[in-house]
Amino acid sequence: MKRIAVFCGSSEGASPAYIAAAKELGKTLAEQGLTLVYGGASVGLMGAVANGAMQAGGHVIGVIPDFLDKREIAHTHLSELIVVSSMHERKAKMAELADGFIALPGGPGTLEEFFEIFTWAQLGLHQKPLGILNVEGYYDLLVKLFDHIADEQFMHEKYRTMTMADTDSERLLEKFRHYKAPEVKTYIKRPEQT
Ligand code: AMP
Repeated sequence: MKRIAVFCGSSEGASPAYIAAAKELGKTLAEQGLTLVYGGASVGLMGAVANGAMQAGGHVIGVIPDFLDKREIAHTHLSELIVVSSMHERKAKMAELADGFIALPGGPGTLEEFFEIFTWAQLGLHQKPLGILNVEGYYDLLVKLFDHIADEQFMHEKYRTMTMADTDSERLLEKFRHYKAPEVKTYIKRPEQT
């Protein structure tokens, strides 16, 4: 495991704890010699995770679409900034570069990025670990929703274990190191559907 992609809010959130956790995650990645791959912006938690890593001497690769370059204000002090031409290209590039994925608190954009990687894992398109850093219980409701989805049999229990959640970044990264991807998703075809 060399590079970790972090999905997170372009906003700062209501509590200073979110920015602090983003900075801390960046620092932890740098200390563990892991390259941070993220959306390349200087704003919100995105800026904080990058600053945390850069200030701790880490290597940071930002991937930003050209149309967002100005709106999200591309970070100008990264090890590398890759400018792409669309959101799809951004996600594909981040997915290609990363060996694992972490979602910090964020809004719809963060969830969209996380869910795409999650569903690709279910389909066996990659075998990389993914996890949620549950800062201040921000993702408690999502973790509950995953339980509900599995209970109601819209997701197999084995995929439930794909979405590792932890409150501590070092523990989450440790789980990543021991992660073994479950078998690829199969479909049950009932007789009445034939
Ligand atoms: P947010 O969590 O909504 O603050 O967004 C976090 C990041 O996700 C920002 O860099 C957004 O540009 C990006 N984002 C927003 N919408 C999407 C989308 N539909 N697909 C991929 N990334 C998105």
